[in-house]
Amino acid sequence: MNIFELIQKQGHEQVVFCYDDSTGLKAIIAIHNTVLGPALGGVRMWKYEKEEDALFDVLRLSKAMTYKAAVAGLNLGGGKAVIIGDPQTQRSEALFRAFGRFVQSLGGRYITAEDVGTDEKVMEWIYSETKYVTGIPESLGGSGNPAPVTAYGVYVGIKACVKEVFGNESLAGKKVAIQGAGQVGRFLCQHLAKDGAKIYITDIIPEKVKQCVGEYKAEFVEPDKIYDIDADIFAPCALGGIINDDTIPRFKFKIIAGGANNQLLDEDKHDRMLMEKGILYAPDYVINAGGLINVGREVEGYNKEHAMKKAEGIYDTLMKVFEVSKRENIPTHVASARIAEERIMSALKIKKISLDTTKASLERRYHR
Ligand code: NAD
Repeated sequence: MNIFELIQKQGHEQVVFCYDDSTGLKAIIAIHNTVLGPALGGVRMWKYEKEEDALFDVLRLSKAMTYKAAVAGLNLGGGKAVIIGDPQTQRSEALFRAFGRFVQSLGGRYITAEDVGTDEKVMEWIYSETKYVTGIPESLGGSGNPAPVTAYGVYVGIKACVKEVFGNESLAGKKVAIQGAGQVGRFLCQHLAKDGAKIYITDIIPEKVKQCVGEYKAEFVEPDKIYDIDADIFAPCALGGIINDDTIPRFKFKIIAGGANNQLLDEDKHDRMLMEKGILYAPDYVINAGGLINVGREVEGYNKEHAMKKAEGIYDTLMKVFEVSKRENIPTHVASARIAEERIMSALKIKKISLDTTKASLERRYHR
């Protein structure tokens, strides 16, 4: 494997391999792009079979964070970290504090957060060693659980899609099929029910849908039947890869807009297939940016109201994505990537006005 070739291909700035003998920590931190600001992204702990898999994962995930932050209009770059290990058996305070020290050593170029295999408690351990961590408990001045903000962003995103397809954003009487009654799915259900939508919901753990069925009059659907529901909107809030060759022919939906990550099994192929079938797809990383917006606010001093307000911007961002998609006749996923890249390029251009050089020359002038 040629690491520099890999990094060059995907445009990464820096990849840091971290090892600590005493705790057994093996971590990789990937900083993809810091043109817009410090690279923010979660730390994932996973039992990778090969070190190579961990490297591929961190490179892919950190690049995706650059696009997510850029299109959400945040002044943040893209980064991610992975820890090679089993979160069930190898999770310890010392290991995460060791990781925190490596994060601190980067001086704020990378800011960490929760991801698969890590949680609020882990962020608290990391916080003992570095201030460059988000998602710490509310009691310590952090933002706590991001799911309510993520779900709110998905809700306003669904309204944008409905406006685009039906001409007005009313959800009254609209049929919505939600896959996954986890944290995001349940909060989303609450918003949709309040607006008078008819909700169909599924989960592989049937008890999870109880609240939605009881309180919000949602109808339970068997997990595999969700793709065949005759609904206006499909909101995937569980797994990735659920938009694929097998499911697309079954869809009768007009809109796909949900919180799950990596919904398209093959980004290039399946986005185009949806477009050709006349289904409006809200790119996952655009509509589920509420979680990132929430932790991003922590960098500037957390305020829940500000985070919710910023998440409302997902409505306008999606409208812009749809406009570019129509104008250029390209799938929405391609359109959002184009918007993200344009924002990064324009920020890069103004960086030619070098603040540091000005400062240095002024210092020379006045300290002569
Ligand atoms: P969660 O674990 O609370 O909920 C996921 C739910 O999906 C669980 O109830 C699980 O039983 C169910 N599920 C799993 N496989 C299923 C299947 N085949 N069919 C039906 N249901 C199934 O997770 P969450 O925090 O609600 O996140 C949901 C999705 O949104 C994930 O893809 C996550 O990566 C993404 N996301 C979450 C946030 C956030 O703030 N929590 C932010 C951005 C993206």
